[in-house]
Amino acid sequence: MTFSATRTRTAKQRFLSFLASPFPVGYGVAAIIILTLAYSGLDIVPTVRRDVQLLHDVQAVDVHAMRLEDELQFEIQKNRRRFLMILVTAGDRAGAKTADSKGVQEEIRALRAHDATIALTESELGLLGGAQAESQRQFHAIWQRYVTLRDRLITLAQDGGLGKAEGASGADDGLSNLGSGAFLSVEEVVQQAEAASATSSANHIDQISSNIKQELKEFLIITVVRVAVLSLLIWVAWRRFRAERQLTRTTRELRASEDRFHRAYDSSAVGMGSFKLDGTLLSINRMGAKILGYEVSELVGRKVKDFMAPEFREDHIRQIATLPAGPESSYVAERRVIRKDGSPAWLRNSVALLRPEGEEGHYFFISEEITLQKEAHDRLEYLANYDPVTNLPNRRFFEEQLSVALRPRPGRTDCVALLYLEIDSFDFLKGTFGRAIADEILADLGAQLASQRRDGELVARLDDQVFGMLVMAAPYDEATLVRAGELREVFQRAGEAGKHRIPISASIGIAYSADSARESGGTRGTFVGQAPKSTDAETLLKFARAAMLEARSRGGDSIFLADPALQERAAELHRIELALLRGLRQDEFQVVFQPLFEVATGKLVRFEALCRWNSAELGPIPPDRFIPIAEQTGLIPEIGRRVLHEALRQAKIWSETGRRIGVAVNVSPMQFMRPDFTHSITEALALTQFPPGLLELEITEGIFIRDLNLAIARIRELQRLGLSIALDDFGTGYSSLSYLQRMPIDAVKLDRSFVSELTKNAATVSMVRSVLAMANALHLRVITEGVETEEQLAILRTLGCDEAQGYLLGRPESAEMALRRVLDGPLQTQTIGLLA
Ligand code: C2E
Ligand code: CA
Ligand code: CA
Repeated sequence: MTFSATRTRTAKQRFLSFLASPFPVGYGVAAIIILTLAYSGLDIVPTVRRDVQLLHDVQAVDVHAMRLEDELQFEIQKNRRRFLMILVTAGDRAGAKTADSKGVQEEIRALRAHDATIALTESELGLLGGAQAESQRQFHAIWQRYVTLRDRLITLAQDGGLGKAEGASGADDGLSNLGSGAFLSVEEVVQQAEAASATSSANHIDQISSNIKQELKEFLIITVVRVAVLSLLIWVAWRRFRAERQLTRTTRELRASEDRFHRAYDSSAVGMGSFKLDGTLLSINRMGAKILGYEVSELVGRKVKDFMAPEFREDHIRQIATLPAGPESSYVAERRVIRKDGSPAWLRNSVALLRPEGEEGHYFFISEEITLQKEAHDRLEYLANYDPVTNLPNRRFFEEQLSVALRPRPGRTDCVALLYLEIDSFDFLKGTFGRAIADEILADLGAQLASQRRDGELVARLDDQVFGMLVMAAPYDEATLVRAGELREVFQRAGEAGKHRIPISASIGIAYSADSARESGGTRGTFVGQAPKSTDAETLLKFARAAMLEARSRGGDSIFLADPALQERAAELHRIELALLRGLRQDEFQVVFQPLFEVATGKLVRFEALCRWNSAELGPIPPDRFIPIAEQTGLIPEIGRRVLHEALRQAKIWSETGRRIGVAVNVSPMQFMRPDFTHSITEALALTQFPPGLLELEITEGIFIRDLNLAIARIRELQRLGLSIALDDFGTGYSSLSYLQRMPIDAVKLDRSFVSELTKNAATVSMVRSVLAMANALHLRVITEGVETEEQLAILRTLGCDEAQGYLLGRPESAEMALRRVLDGPLQTQTIGLLA
């Protein structure tokens, strides 16, 4: 995912940022400095150079002129003295006529040569600069005249006419001025020229220096201004440079932070992004795209709602439309989305509306994929509410829905019809075919029921072999009965069509909420067409179950409608349940003991412990009534535990009298199959110190039907403790002789019904005989119960029955009576007279 949209910069921004970079500023400053210097150089340097050159020239002329002047002064003075000296010497020599003319000649020559050297040309004089042309000419003329006169004088002196020469020197031709006048004139001219030149030079120099001053002043001002401007420019440039450096640093930090954000954004384990107010996706990170199975580029620009499962679209739009702005007020929702490949994913979305200043608002979202959690949650919810074998809702869910359906609603005329469907002889089916096949049959049935379900109906599996259906109906209408009939057929068909082709049938009980309400205290007789008082789910289920039991008692595969009488019975059942709970709390249970004798010898061998309950509320209730209810409500293990402890406690007393009298205790299947059952026996034996060999447990076939293997293992476990196991009520259930072979039991207790039939039915006699033969072969003791007559006892003795129990021999009696019976007997054994 990229932020391509937000990253795009305009040309203007790019130009500005280029300007903001430090390089152009540097170039700019350098360019300004160079241009300024170049301009100054071009402008100032030539002017100054010209002026300076002029100054140099003036100085050169000045120095030269002064030097010339000095030299001229000096030379003229020197020549004058020498000329005078020559003249004097020449005069002396003429007088003596021995004048050393050779020495004079040389002197004169030297003088002429020397003069020639100082005979300045006009151009040389012009170099005096300031000297005027007139003065120069004058100087030149005088000089020429001086040279001419001097040469004449020298010639005269050489010819010997000293007087003439002296005369000539005093004559008017100017020779007399030669010594003073001519030189004075030259001096004057030179001085005048010198003065003029000096004045002119000075003026010129003044002029120049004033010009220079002016130029310098201007140059200085310009320079100062330029330096000031330059400094200002440099200062501005420096400020700008610093600001830009700061900006660059900030930009870099910003970019680094943005990079960090992007890295975090893109490597985040949760999806995130933003979308416009109209729902168009602005950005999405990699994870977000990955969850949806797309590339980032494929998503940007598309509408968010397009990815949402249809059922959430409307809610999503409503939620975001009403969302207040600000990151603190986000909304969180679990949404199903559709991936690119069409598969669904669950997301937990958190959406916030952001409105940054000066920008258009947008939504920011964080999406966490929760598909797995959701599935696990759904699975848990499914497990909590559904039965995994049949895929139908379970009892919990059914009861919940039933409660909802039963809620009173004003103006309501319909009621809830509850169909309670139980598979007939399911325990047999399970015992015969095993749990796995039983489950397959149930699964078939579940699928059939689900496919037959109509709108408004609810089908569920309520228990192992129990299904429930909820139908909204008018009380006692024909339709519900028809529907029940259809369901009955569904069961039959499922059995026939199923994989295992095992015929199955169901007993169906129907109860109506309206009638239940009436029966449980509602407005009696006025339920039709009126809002009936609603009943609770539990009661309705009980009534429906009672109706089912009624159908079952009529042979199964039938339908029974809960009538008031039945419902009364069911209500009674409920009352007993409540009383049982109370009975346990108040310890209302007692144990009585019924003796058992060895048929052959008539010896008292043991007592069977039988439970008695005298309810404070309901009076004495026989065990045949309350034991099944205690089993249904799960109270039986506690009742059984109490009976066991009491039986062992009493039997311990008997054994302490020195007689070997055993005790038999009834154990219900539910109690027997509990994982802690063996432990509870060990505990009771240890607690009472009763010898295990004298304890017999009476179990029924029910335990084999529940779980044959476990039952066998449990029996062996108990036998290892030393006690014996008798199979009670043999011949009533599905037990057969072959069954006996598989059971590791010690004794068989023939049901009362066999004994009562003995004298009436010859077939029973032969049946008992074969049971006895079989038992003998398997080394099983055979016990008979319900012996009420001497006749019965006689037959049993003839058949070779081992032990007998019945009203004839002794009714169930109190612990004291039992003890008295024990004590009445001889030590070790006791016989009864009638057997003699
Ligand atoms: P059961 O185990 O078959 O117990 C024998 C029942 O037959 C007892 O009924 C007993 O009083 C009765 N009986 C004994 N001799 C005769 C007779 O000659 N003629 C007739 N008609 N009946 C006779 P009771 O005590 O009412 O118990 C009924 C059933 O309740 C028992 O049948 C047993 O299944 C159950 N039961 C009783 N006590 C307990 C107990 O502590 N635990 C469990 N799990 N079940 C118990
Ligand atoms: Ca029994
Ligand atoms: Ca029995």
